[in-house]
Amino acid sequence: MIILVVNTGSSSLKYQLFDMEDRKVLAKGICERIAEDGHMNYKVGDETVFSKDIPLPDHGVAMQLVIDALIDKEHGVISDMNEIHAVGHRVVQGGSLFKKSEIITPEVEAGIEQLSVIAPLHNPPALVGIRACKKVLPNAIGVVVFDTSFHQTMPEESYMYAIPMEYLEKYNIRKYGAHGTSHRYVSERCAELCGKDKSEMNIITCHLGNGSSVTAIKEGKCYDTSMGLTPLDGLIMGTRTGTLDPTVVSFINEQTGMSASEIVSMMNKKSGLLAVSGISGDVRDICEAEAKGNHRAHIAREMLLKSVRHFIGAYAAELGKVDALVFTAGIGENDIELREKVCDYLGFMGVKIDTEKNNSRGEEVEITAPGSTVRTFVIPTNEELMIAIDTQALADGK
Ligand code: ADP
Repeated sequence: MIILVVNTGSSSLKYQLFDMEDRKVLAKGICERIAEDGHMNYKVGDETVFSKDIPLPDHGVAMQLVIDALIDKEHGVISDMNEIHAVGHRVVQGGSLFKKSEIITPEVEAGIEQLSVIAPLHNPPALVGIRACKKVLPNAIGVVVFDTSFHQTMPEESYMYAIPMEYLEKYNIRKYGAHGTSHRYVSERCAELCGKDKSEMNIITCHLGNGSSVTAIKEGKCYDTSMGLTPLDGLIMGTRTGTLDPTVVSFINEQTGMSASEIVSMMNKKSGLLAVSGISGDVRDICEAEAKGNHRAHIAREMLLKSVRHFIGAYAAELGKVDALVFTAGIGENDIELREKVCDYLGFMGVKIDTEKNNSRGEEVEITAPGSTVRTFVIPTNEELMIAIDTQALADGK
């Protein structure tokens, strides 16, 4: 079965075409700067076939150009667009409405639209992508995979905020989490690597990238996660604050006259590692500056390390027993020193890693040392494959 996976942002459209026979990526790329100056990149395997500026007035045009590239006589990978059996779309917010991936119906579209209130930056572009795709590929089965659905198993004590009940009942204000597709993929892969059923394991998964979250998984189900109503909560991130006292918002408002939405935007885009270091939100830049003796870069680095330890420690205590720890995403997969420094503190809960095995970037590897009671892994995330697997399962049953 040939499946197209689409991830639509406000000005971008990422795509991967899978042959599910061997789960191989046939082609992939990104359309960027949609409705601006337009740029498109198209790769077959790992070879870039083209990367060029091209007018992309809207997502519909971008989607059509993706299909044109995929079926092109010279560099295409399929001969007819009808070979694409199904399309899987990533949707950030599924709220409490969507507890699993779904075939797209008018009701599902309406649900995604309704949830735009809590994901104004993410759900509207996803709908634009879904509609553009339906026009260009009218015969393909459409599926949506939600970043939040894995976290829907959280119990009330994890997802509820201790505020008056009306805010949950009337406005659905609660913890939803994010990166669910990534946490699900790496935890399932971890269970597979341990030769166990996921229901037999308690796992803490650390998705550490520009956006970061840690998840506590109890017997295969999400028990708690560090992101909240939105991805602003939890760990310190590239440009996001992570957890802070909410009174900071009203205090800044009173002191500066900035509106609540301006403050939240500052907390999403101008804060985190970028604000503390004063240099960059990119961990590589921070490490480089820290090595040269920059004090603010050092504080940013220490805050990141502490933040990761904080959530692993908290979730170990929430779970009571931890069988495995997983690192994934840009920082988790590549930052050897962070893994070592974090795990150095975790001996009290049975974590011991092998420094030689840990000396690896972007590879799937078990880094557990002999004598460790917690198995520790680096598992490159693959959200697109997870979306393709869900899409195939739903399309198969239709
Ligand atoms: P996104 O959340 O945008 O998908 P990624 O998962 O790609 O982000 O992660 C980006 C982060 O990974 C950046 O902070 C970058 O500095 C970090 N990163 C990438 N490679 C390395 C490396 N070799 N060492 C440390 N950090 C790295």
